[in-house]
Amino acid sequence: MAEMKILIFGQCPACNSYESEIVERNTESDSHWFLELSKRKYNGCMNDWQSLFPLDIHHCLSCSHLWYYRQPDQSSLVQMYNNGIVLNPVKIAKRPSWRMRKEMKTLYELVKHRYQDNKPRLLDFGSGRGLWAHAAQENGFEVTAYEPSAIRSTSGIRSDGFRLTNCLEDLGEQKFHAVNIEQVLEHLPQPVETLKAVLDYCLDKALIRITVPNIGREKTRPGFWNDFPFDGQHIHLMSPFEHLQGFTQNSLGCAARRAGLSPVRHIDLWLKYPAYSIRRLIGRTITRLSTTMIIAEPRK
Ligand SMILES: [Zn+2]
Repeated sequence: MAEMKILIFGQCPACNSYESEIVERNTESDSHWFLELSKRKYNGCMNDWQSLFPLDIHHCLSCSHLWYYRQPDQSSLVQMYNNGIVLNPVKIAKRPSWRMRKEMKTLYELVKHRYQDNKPRLLDFGSGRGLWAHAAQENGFEVTAYEPSAIRSTSGIRSDGFRLTNCLEDLGEQKFHAVNIEQVLEHLPQPVETLKAVLDYCLDKALIRITVPNIGREKTRPGFWNDFPFDGQHIHLMSPFEHLQGFTQNSLGCAARRAGLSPVRHIDLWLKYPAYSIRRLIGRTITRLSTTMIIAEPRK
C-alpha cells in the first residue's frame, strides 16, 4: 500500500483568503472516535492515519468557510471511499424522491425557457447512485451521469434511460444545457478547480445547479462540535475526511464566482424558485435562513 502524503491547505479553498482561525482541534490523544469511525465505516483503512493529527478545522474570517488544514492525498481518499459502507443501510432510497423530481422539473422549465430545445442535455456531475439522474431523465432531460467511483455508481439503481460514465474524458467535446452538482463540492480538496473544469462542458447560457450542506446554518446548532468527529452512529457534517469543505451561503458564492460563474438573477428564477430567491436575499444577514443551493451560469 502506498504511503499517504499529507497536503496542507493554508488558504481558504472558497475565497482564497489567508485570514483564518482554528475552530476545532482534535488531537491524537482524543483519537478514540476517529478510530471508531475508521473501524465502523471504512473497514479500518484510516487506522494508520495518525500523521494527519491534530485534525485542525479552519474558519475563514472573510467568507466563514470551514476546511481541513491537513488532508490526505487523492489516492488515500479514493482508498477511503472504496472501503466506505453506508452506516444506516435501511434508509437507502431506491427511487428519486418527490423533492428531487420537483427540483429537476423546475430546472427543466428554466432551461427550456433559454433554449427552446425539446431534449436539453443535462450532466449530473458526481451522480452517486443515480437518483438525481433518474429524476432529470423522467422530466425530459437527455442525461449523462458522471460518477468517478465505479463502486458507488454500480451499487445503486439501474442506469437505463441515461448514459453513465466513470471517466470525464469520455464526454469529449460535448456541451450541456444544464449541470447538476448535488452534494459533491464538500468532498473535494479544490472545489473551485473542479467548477472550472465543469465550465468546459457548459454551453454559453447553461444553468448550473449546485447544492452543498449548509454548514453556516448547522454550526449554530448547540453542541455541533460535541459529536465531532463521530458519535458512533451518524456521519458528522465535517466528518474526516469525507467532508473536506464546510460551505456557507457566502463561501459557496465566493467559490462559484472565482470559478467563473455568476448567480442567475433573471425574473424567471423568482417565479420558479421563490423560496430560494428570498432565502438568498435574507440569508446574507440571517444565517439560519440562508441557502447553500445556487443556480448559476457561466459569466459573460
Ligand atoms: Zn473564505
